[in-house]
Amino acid sequence: MTGSPSAECPFCRIVRKETAAKIVFEDERVLAFEDIRPQAPVHILIIPKKHFDSLAGAPEGSEGLLGELLLRAREIAGKKGIASNGYRIVLNTGPQSGQQVFHIHFHLLGGRPMSWPPG
Ligand code: 5GP
Ligand code: ZN
Repeated sequence: MTGSPSAECPFCRIVRKETAAKIVFEDERVLAFEDIRPQAPVHILIIPKKHFDSLAGAPEGSEGLLGELLLRAREIAGKKGIASNGYRIVLNTGPQSGQQVFHIHFHLLGGRPMSWPPG
């Protein structure tokens, strides 16, 4: 699905405030909240309020919105105090990536050293 909110989508529910979340940033287009199962001391999800299943479902013309998500992630990293040590931004796309929630989201992870390659 692209562009329209889904009654079944857990992140659309958070956008509509039907599910509680620890929101760290919100404007007209973007919402950021703490991951419910954090994998690092800082683990924030940054999503567009508009529903796209994944990067694969993001239409041409969404480059501004996608760039905005990255800039908001950078700002949140600064506010959370992880900018100088560095952080990782992850965009899982499709089944083999481990994507579980099919509403596009960037993970912002930081506050501990990270290994490479990822699992
Ligand atoms: P994915 O594997 O799709 O890239 O990541 C989905 C992430 O969403 C997981 O890290 C998971 O812990 C998180 N998550 C799933 N459901 C909820 C929820 O209802 N609230 C919050 N805050 N995080 C969620
Ligand atoms: Zn959604």
